[in-house]
Amino acid sequence: MLPRVMVLSRGWRPICTALRSLHTVYQSAELPDTHRMLRETCREYAERELQPLAAQLDREHRYPREQVQQMGHMGLLAVEVPDELGGAGLDYLAYSIAMEEISRGCASTGVVMSVNNSLYLGPILKYASEEQKKKWITPFCNGAKIGCFALSEPGNGSDAGAASTVAKLEGDKWVLNGTKSWITNAWEASAAVVFATTDKSLKHKGISAFLVEMPYPGLSLGKKEDKLGIRASSTANLIFEDCRIPRENLLGQPGMGFKIAMQTLDSGRIGIASQALGIAQAALDCAVDYAQKRVAFAAPISKLQAIQFKLADMALALESARLLTWRAAMLKDNKKPYTKEAAMAKLAASEAATRISHQAIQILGGMGYVTEMPAERHYRDARITEIYEGTSEIQRLVIANQLLKDYQG
Ligand SMILES: Cc1cc2nc3c(=O)[nH]c(=O)nc-3n(C[C@H](O)[C@H](O)[C@H](O)COP(=O)(O)OP(=O)(O)OC[C@H]3O[C@@H](n4cnc5c(N)ncnc54)[C@H](O)[C@@H]3O)c2cc1C
Repeated sequence: MLPRVMVLSRGWRPICTALRSLHTVYQSAELPDTHRMLRETCREYAERELQPLAAQLDREHRYPREQVQQMGHMGLLAVEVPDELGGAGLDYLAYSIAMEEISRGCASTGVVMSVNNSLYLGPILKYASEEQKKKWITPFCNGAKIGCFALSEPGNGSDAGAASTVAKLEGDKWVLNGTKSWITNAWEASAAVVFATTDKSLKHKGISAFLVEMPYPGLSLGKKEDKLGIRASSTANLIFEDCRIPRENLLGQPGMGFKIAMQTLDSGRIGIASQALGIAQAALDCAVDYAQKRVAFAAPISKLQAIQFKLADMALALESARLLTWRAAMLKDNKKPYTKEAAMAKLAASEAATRISHQAIQILGGMGYVTEMPAERHYRDARITEIYEGTSEIQRLVIANQLLKDYQG
């Protein structure tokens, strides 16, 4: 039986068939058939629907609305959500593979997918009550609505525990005041997971998580940021001014917000690593193709050892990062600790994407520097993967902290 994402992409039929037995994945050097088929399906979709549009979307800063809806019907916006709640019911390795292929076609579409799957639906799936799940998950699975995740603030990004947005309980309402910054999907989202402090004296242990409908009285949007890359996705501030939300919109218990955010980012980082793999793969594809066609000194430049060494280093960095990413996803699927491995995957994949897209431009020479070819876009898109969901410096801190703990036993 084919999972929904594969069936739907062929005929868009609403058949939901979930994959269940995927934990034997990657016992051999090859992906099992189910994941290989998922990869082929997503690749085919991305080549047909995303890649031809990506440059235009980037140029026009245009949100890929129609494509996001198609991906919703395919199950790609809720890969890990069980089918009874409206998702594809697949595992995290499947999510990583799908994210890579979608981002290979269009990195902006990749980040829209990643925020809905891992930053919005992820924490709700884990911490919401059954009642909350019906309202805040199901309509966000098929592309009808998408969500966002509001942790960062103008005064604190890496130091997320220093949140200054406040939530105060007044009667049966939480009253939110403060500004959340850099929020991906802000302009299109129908709901947000928002982090705000309910008890300042407890510092990060006083942060709680809330579910907020959008638009909502007392909540306004800032301007769309004009970004270096992933320009087809929106990024903006969420500004809360006496925004009164129902008491039952608390996610988890009071004071659990920081833990929810950190756990969400652990899994989110595997998604961003996968996005970086997709960008890096697209840059490598472009470089190999060009090197085989471009003639200099009477032969294709791919015959030059200087170019071959670059291509070899690019392929090596990409494949190493992919193995780290799949490993982190499999640890999560097998319910093993994966904080360090997810940070390693994100660090390796994002730095590989930056290096590979940089070298792709070098291989294309002048053609690498103009918008006629996709290399410059890959370079611009790659850069963000070293910043959001924890900068490369923060990933190194996470890895070192865990490593030192491991040594202490
Ligand atoms: C396009 C885009 C989309 C985003 N989407 C979202 C979103 O959807 N939701 C959301 O909540 N946030 C989002 N973010 C915010 C993003 O997660 C933060 O920008 C990021 O965590 C870094 O925070 P900062 O920008 O405040 O940088 P800072 O924290 O001010 O860091 C500045 C520099 O100092 C370094 N630094 C900071 N602390 C340390 C330390 N302890 N050790 C070593 N170096 C350190 C950093 O690595 C960085 O180099 C997005 C950002 C961008 C640009």
